[in-house]
Amino acid sequence: MSRTTFRVLLLTAVLTATTLVLMPLARPLIDPAALPVSVPWWTLAPAYLAVTFLPIYYETRGEVRAVSLTQVALAIGLVFVSPWMLLLARVLAAAVFCLPVRRQPPAKAAFNISLCAFEVGTAVSIASLFSPLDGAGPVLWAALLVALLLSEIVSFLVLQVLFAILGVEHSRESTRSAVVGLLAATGVFAGVAVVVVAAAWTDPWTSAVGAAVGCALAIGYRQHRRLAADQQQNARLHQFLQGLGPVDLDSEDSQDVLQQVRLLLHAEHLDLALQSPEGWRHFSDDDPDVGAIRETALEVELLTRTRASLLEGNDHMSAPLMGAQDMLGVLTVSSRMGNARPFGLRDLRMLETLATELAAAVERGRLQRELALAATTDALTHLPNLNETTHRLNVMLSADEDVIVTTCAVDSFREVNDTLGHQVGDDLLSEVTRRLLLSYPEALIGRIGGGRFCVAVPATPYGGDPSMFGLGVRAQVEGGAQLGPVGTHIKLSVGCARGREHGKDAATLIRRAETAMYSARHASGGPVVWEPAYEVEGQRRLAVVMALREALASGAIGVGFQPKVDTLTRVVTGVEALARWTHPALGAISPAEFVPLAEASGLMGPLTSTVLRQALTTCKGWQRRGGRVGVAVNVSAETILDPSFVTEVAAIVTSVNIAPDLLTLELTEGVVVNDPGLAAIRLGELRALGVKISVDDFGTGYSSLTYLKGLPVDEVKIDKAFVDGITHDRADGAVVRAVVDIAHTLGLRVVAEGVEQEEQHQMLARFGVDEVQGYLHARPMAALDMAQWLRRREQETPHGLRGV
Ligand code: C2E
Ligand code: CA
Ligand code: CA
Repeated sequence: MSRTTFRVLLLTAVLTATTLVLMPLARPLIDPAALPVSVPWWTLAPAYLAVTFLPIYYETRGEVRAVSLTQVALAIGLVFVSPWMLLLARVLAAAVFCLPVRRQPPAKAAFNISLCAFEVGTAVSIASLFSPLDGAGPVLWAALLVALLLSEIVSFLVLQVLFAILGVEHSRESTRSAVVGLLAATGVFAGVAVVVVAAAWTDPWTSAVGAAVGCALAIGYRQHRRLAADQQQNARLHQFLQGLGPVDLDSEDSQDVLQQVRLLLHAEHLDLALQSPEGWRHFSDDDPDVGAIRETALEVELLTRTRASLLEGNDHMSAPLMGAQDMLGVLTVSSRMGNARPFGLRDLRMLETLATELAAAVERGRLQRELALAATTDALTHLPNLNETTHRLNVMLSADEDVIVTTCAVDSFREVNDTLGHQVGDDLLSEVTRRLLLSYPEALIGRIGGGRFCVAVPATPYGGDPSMFGLGVRAQVEGGAQLGPVGTHIKLSVGCARGREHGKDAATLIRRAETAMYSARHASGGPVVWEPAYEVEGQRRLAVVMALREALASGAIGVGFQPKVDTLTRVVTGVEALARWTHPALGAISPAEFVPLAEASGLMGPLTSTVLRQALTTCKGWQRRGGRVGVAVNVSAETILDPSFVTEVAAIVTSVNIAPDLLTLELTEGVVVNDPGLAAIRLGELRALGVKISVDDFGTGYSSLTYLKGLPVDEVKIDKAFVDGITHDRADGAVVRAVVDIAHTLGLRVVAEGVEQEEQHQMLARFGVDEVQGYLHARPMAALDMAQWLRRREQETPHGLRGV
């Protein structure tokens, strides 16, 4: 039983109890012996029933009540019948009306019957105050009028209690107009009733005429009230529709809208069932009555779909909510308010109108919600976007300023997107999102751009150590991943900032974590915690990127050359081309600084092109003057995986008109590790042009020689780090020795770079390294210097240049 039903039943019980207390106090208004005619008590029951069918409606906001000629019946009863018999007749008539005629639900019927009984109870007890009167006269008529009026007023007050229970709110003004309407109507009909009784006293025929006049009056008044009620109803509907904006049923406001709809329909209960992917969602009060009926309503509406229907003895109505595409749901209302009548065609039309308008409003509400969602949420991952992340982080900071903010960039996102397509790129981001959400269900996780995410947590539970947390993020997310048919390895660069130390507001913290994250890219992923120095560095990076763009456009990037020599004969075997740049204001800028920036800002293509062209042109120049020196050019990962790079190399080789086997492309081992399959394809294509391939910085990453097996590679360059350690660290020696052994087995040449000391050279020679490169033999130098150097070298050692 719902709370409302319980309260209504309680009110019913109070009414019944009061009636039972009042009744014994009642005495007949007139001594039965003094009555001019005797009226059998039972005739009052059909009389009551008859007048109930001819009610005059008056409305108080949302509630239809009827004043009817029941007052006439009551007046006759008060004078001609004993109090208990009057009560019996009244209760019988009400029971017949509510149950078999109207088929009201038990609770509602019980209330209405008890209210009728209560009216009789108050009327007879008030009338008793005047009794016994010895006959007709002004005092009797006054007593009758007072009893009729007071009982009607008391019953009006009871109804106000009922409305309060049902949650119907009245403005003071509507209550006042209701009282005035009630008093006027009651006054008129009580007057008619008195006249009828007075007439019956003298002459029953006059009384019949009086009754006829009363009926005519009632019919006229009823017509008038109907029109007035219709007008009022239309005005309310109009007002409601004007105020009806988009309805979001998940918001608080929607309750109010549904309540208004319910009141417009004079219904005690309302249920709105909406179709959702999970099934029907109900927005209603918890009335068990509706629960049962709404199932029927759903069935009916699913079948008919386009029309509203009256159900179950007209005590329920339902209508479908038709959206632009499909049926959105079903609106069901039940129990017309008041005792007057069940739902009728008029109500049904109203329901149809409201259902149509409500459907449109719900659709508008959904659209609005979607738009709001789109403004705050990333469509692919459904994570908050940058704006929303910043907003939520600010909220988090206002609760506790000690927050760890990490940002992470998926390292190979751009490459994956460009080379494997957007679908795989999307899959990659979805996978990262999944791992983050799984590992940090409580954290604020947002996608703040391209392949960049933000993860923020309160510092305390994580020991207040940003870099530990950052490490955790990497550990949770990094690792192998299968993206559709493509297997790949996810790696992150992570930057961190901490609320208490590095900034107070979200925007600053995110920006600083990102600055640190960019540094992490060059620190094997980090995590790097932000430091004030980064602010300056960040500005420098920006300046360098801008200057680099200009330098590339104006041809200000030059190339230096560094020779490689045969370990045993020390004859020059080739040169490596290294990008060189001196900016007028910033001075000489190392490729170690600008190459990563070029990678990060999409300038790698033009940089590689300019170095490649200059290197090959220079090489061609030496060749014309008789020296045949091969040149090696560094190519970054992104570039080598780009299919158009192969075409570009072919075009430059052709336009410079140089033998392709004079060109070696140096690439870092990372390229091979990240995606051996794709790397093999691209390297194969380059190899097919006649170009040689060298794996640079060998040993620094996590590749092993097994990766090289089966790859079209000609040479490995052992990283300077191993050469540095070779003279004093046995382990480094062992690595070099192993690399040489396996590389030779695979048919690859081995080059050692960064050789600065004669001692290192000797050792490398002993280990079987084929060629060495380093300051010991020559520093990188400009093309002209390189030519001179080569010539001098040739004179010193007659066979200084291989192949000359
Ligand atoms: P890398 O390919 O390993 O180039 C060798 C680096 O070591 C060069 O630095 C060279 O000057 C330096 N070096 C050579 N011998 C010695 C030595 O004995 N001792 C010491 N301490 N250093 C030595 P550089 O020119 O500053 O280049 C740095 C890195 O920048 C290169 O490393 C390469 O990865 C990248 N780079 C340079 N030019 C280009 C280019 O045109 N394209 C691409 N993609 N990367 C380039
Ligand atoms: Ca190199
Ligand atoms: Ca290197």
